[in-house]
Amino acid sequence: MRAFTRTVLTCVLTSMAFQASAAIELNGELSQGALIRAKVQPGTQVFLNDEPVKVNAQGQLAFGFAREAELEQMLKLIYPDGLTELKPLKLTKRQYRIQEVNGISKKIMKPDPKAQARAAKDSKQVKAARAQFTASDAFNQQFIWPLTGRISGVYGSQRIYNGKPGTPHYGVDVAAKTGTVVVAPADGVISLSVPDMFYSGGTMIIDHGYGVNSTFLHLSKLYVKQGDVVKQGDKVAEVGSTGRSTGPHLDWRVNWYQMRLDPTTIVPSMKSVLAKQDAN
Ligand SMILES: [Zn+2]
Repeated sequence: MRAFTRTVLTCVLTSMAFQASAAIELNGELSQGALIRAKVQPGTQVFLNDEPVKVNAQGQLAFGFAREAELEQMLKLIYPDGLTELKPLKLTKRQYRIQEVNGISKKIMKPDPKAQARAAKDSKQVKAARAQFTASDAFNQQFIWPLTGRISGVYGSQRIYNGKPGTPHYGVDVAAKTGTVVVAPADGVISLSVPDMFYSGGTMIIDHGYGVNSTFLHLSKLYVKQGDVVKQGDKVAEVGSTGRSTGPHLDWRVNWYQMRLDPTTIVPSMKSVLAKQDAN
């Protein structure tokens, strides 16, 4: 379980006294792994740790904090009148599920050169899809779960094999039977739809705009193709166990460009969603 409270924090950072309209509204948890949606006065330039962040015409923007992000972050705002303001942000440190696996040697399956080449090509394709910038405002929507059910894997978890750390898990896994329908968590454009990637099998990426994108892994069926426009709740795929997977589940990932974030930071808790379904 998460160490911090799950309440969504909306914090309006106060402005300098003489700059009445100067503020940034932050919607999200100020914690490692979180996706933050924010709003500034239109025309304001925003920098996160000196990197420019794109802002839409309504003054809306998104950014994220990686799994092991520094706890001290700095926002810089340059207002339309040229005035610059610094806004330090203090993040909550996350506790991730770490599992020590000792005594048994991890079976290392070295893929053959052909498979290795395929995996490298897949990874390049995924990176390119996530690097795209789309001027869609869908990233601001209240996201919904692409599928409801038992959570069988969480963001940030990691296994340590005989003292050697494995790659952390960056998605949230929802266990479901092969063929269970997966819906779009928000509006977007399909930026990748490939049925047979080496590791992730049936793989789909939905671009929600301004760098925010969803990835689905191990799908058995893909209903939409690259370039298709989808609405929140549209049926886009079916759960599977394709690629290197141990059983049918949906692995949902949320990225801000290449930064891997925790999808559960932008949806209501699964517990609350399931309770609501039961009540209906
Ligand atoms: Zn997973």
